[in-house]
Amino acid sequence: MKRPILIHPDPRLKKVATPVDDISDELRKLSDDMLETMYDAPGIGLAAPQIGILQRLIVLDCVKEDGEAPRPLVMFNPEIVSASDETSSYEEGCLSIPEQYAEVTRPAEVTVRWMDRDGNAREETFDKLWATCVQHEIDHLEGKLFIDHISPMRRQMITRKSQKLKRERARG
Ligand SMILES: [Zn+2]
Repeated sequence: MKRPILIHPDPRLKKVATPVDDISDELRKLSDDMLETMYDAPGIGLAAPQIGILQRLIVLDCVKEDGEAPRPLVMFNPEIVSASDETSSYEEGCLSIPEQYAEVTRPAEVTVRWMDRDGNAREETFDKLWATCVQHEIDHLEGKLFIDHISPMRRQMITRKSQKLKRERARG
């Protein structure tokens, strides 16, 4: 089932999400809904707070090549255990800030530990777009958006545009 995505500004996008201690069927269903919502948008990542659920759960799939098999990842309680000194910059966007993009610099490689949908502990090192995306999504669990990494002036400008778009959508 597709879920509505919250649009910035929204107080729920600013909250720190709570760790998940037990992966219930309900949470598994939620992760399926999040993947469906993400693919439909379309996007490459989605965090639970973006659909108003303040729990530490993200989904992502950064496979973008046509013909390449999709690789949906579901991460409960994801944690960055190490990050490279080397950085990389990407033009980032966010399903909660439609049509707005900005260059963000982050560590080029990160090692992430998480619990998968079967409750198994997993660890993997990500680079390139995957590294950017997983850091962007984990930021959401801390109530942080990609615009928190750019200049205050640029942030205000993007926020105003997002606010306007949100009003227009509400009006239908
Ligand atoms: Zn986002």
